[in-house]
Amino acid sequence: MKKLINAVNTVVEDMLEGVVLANQGLVLLDGENVVVRQDFQALKAAHKVAIISGGGAGHEPAHAGYVGQGMLTAAVAGPVFTSPSVDAVLSAIMTVAGPAGVLLIIKSYTGDRLNFGLAAEIARTQGVKVEVVVVGDDVALDDAGRAVGRRGIAGTVFIHKVAGAAAEAGLSLEEVQREAEQAAAGLFSMGLGLSSCTVPAAGKPGFVLGEDEVEYGLGIHGESGVRRETIQSADVMVQALLERILEQGQFKAGERAVLMVNNLGGTAAQELDIVARRALLGCQAHGVKVEAVLVGTFLTALEMAGCSLSLLRADDGRLARLQAATSATAWPGMTVPNRQLVRQPCINVAAASAEQGASWSAAQAARFKAVISRITSALREQEQKLTELDSVVGDGDIGISLARGSLAIEEALDGLDLERPAVALQQISAILRRALGGTSGPLYAVFVLRAGASLAGARNPATVTSWSEAFSAGCDGIVKLGGAGMGDRTMLDALLPVAAVLKAGAADASALSAAQAAQAAASKGAAATRDMLPLKGRSSYIGQRALGHVDPGAYAVTIWMDAIVQALSA
Ligand code: ADP
Ligand code: MG
Repeated sequence: MKKLINAVNTVVEDMLEGVVLANQGLVLLDGENVVVRQDFQALKAAHKVAIISGGGAGHEPAHAGYVGQGMLTAAVAGPVFTSPSVDAVLSAIMTVAGPAGVLLIIKSYTGDRLNFGLAAEIARTQGVKVEVVVVGDDVALDDAGRAVGRRGIAGTVFIHKVAGAAAEAGLSLEEVQREAEQAAAGLFSMGLGLSSCTVPAAGKPGFVLGEDEVEYGLGIHGESGVRRETIQSADVMVQALLERILEQGQFKAGERAVLMVNNLGGTAAQELDIVARRALLGCQAHGVKVEAVLVGTFLTALEMAGCSLSLLRADDGRLARLQAATSATAWPGMTVPNRQLVRQPCINVAAASAEQGASWSAAQAARFKAVISRITSALREQEQKLTELDSVVGDGDIGISLARGSLAIEEALDGLDLERPAVALQQISAILRRALGGTSGPLYAVFVLRAGASLAGARNPATVTSWSEAFSAGCDGIVKLGGAGMGDRTMLDALLPVAAVLKAGAADASALSAAQAAQAAASKGAAATRDMLPLKGRSSYIGQRALGHVDPGAYAVTIWMDAIVQALSA
């Protein structure tokens, strides 16, 4: 077990102290794991009904996260996955009870029913008005008729909200209770788990799921579910949950509802949105009008990976309760979903606005094409080698990136304006901008863009001098955009020596001899990076450990320099 805790037996206390330290609106009952609204006395004076919920800990942000104006007045926490004691509940009731009375909202588990039930009974003998609403929204297990009834899971948070808003609006205890009960009768949930979770005191997972297994209909206390299956696509699994909910809840086309997509604790926000997508599309396909939606982490089973869906029938009155303001930190507010995906037409940023420049002969265009092809195939051939180099000092993606960019250029090659090299370079820059990611992407894109712009200004694009100037302009672009210079251990350590060599010898060199001189300068420059401390880019994070390894970006320059020489000598 690996957890950010201090000690197994102080988990709940430490957590609640954190919650209260972070929020001026909350206080902690001395000696009990009960979080209370700081202004609870004022509520009594205002004759507002107090709302209490709670249960075992481990469902965070439930329940303390829902304490606040417009939601819970107090939350009682038991040990992890264990119902709180009668006395803990009773102290919460006696603290917040005013003349308007107290409503307890509990999830349907035997322990919670007994402890909250007995506390309510004792409070009544002391003259406090107390009512209880039991929520059983989980449709996984059994039909509502079975002896123990349905369990209460994440949908319960909707009931906190409805009751809290009704109490805030000044309704009587009976009225608040009725609204909560009516809402609970229209609430249906089901979850699936991709992993188990570990109760700190137990030290090991409650059950074990294989790499490819998914558990449908599990409880929120790490108890296993109704069936175990091989994992499928998110769409298939979410649809299975939704269908059970729609069927058990007898939702008909045209009905209105609100949806909660809940993270069981260990699921990436990314996956939750993928779940929300299918759930919303599925509701739409069924004809259920989702009026508002919540996507996030609302009621968890510690760090369990997985999700649950809850659907609550809603009319205007209930929607108003759900949309009413609250200061509870774990209630982010419901969004109103789009009925269909709204796509805004996108401005075509890829459209070329190239500076034209002079053209050259068809023979030169053919040679240019051969050079480009040789470069792209060389970069693709050397993908593995580049990956290895970048894995040592970076994140291993430069090989994939350059191969992807090369492929994109190959695919576009026949459509390039190769007879006007300035235009072709600017077209290539636009391709690289889209296809090449990481740091290399924008740097190569600016290199080729500036080179193209320089060439557009040249009287004759066929001279070595024109290309030498274009090369220097490209290097300037990289320096400007990336902020690195000679000796920073980047591709510039290969590129800048080339620019210098070309400048010095350009006027009287042939294209091939210029390329050979460039190749030699690039290789020398790249080799020198072995002894340089990384100061720019991702490898700067590993400092000294980069020493002895050639910079992958500089090495990539040698690959395409070699390719140019090969193509020109052919
Ligand atoms: P990322 O670090 O984003 O994964 P890539 O893997 O695409 O980047 O490229 C890494 C290479 O980028 C480095 O090996 C280095 O040569 C080059 N590089 C990083 N930062 C700069 C910079 N500021 N200027 C020029 N080149 C840089
Ligand atoms: Mg990288």
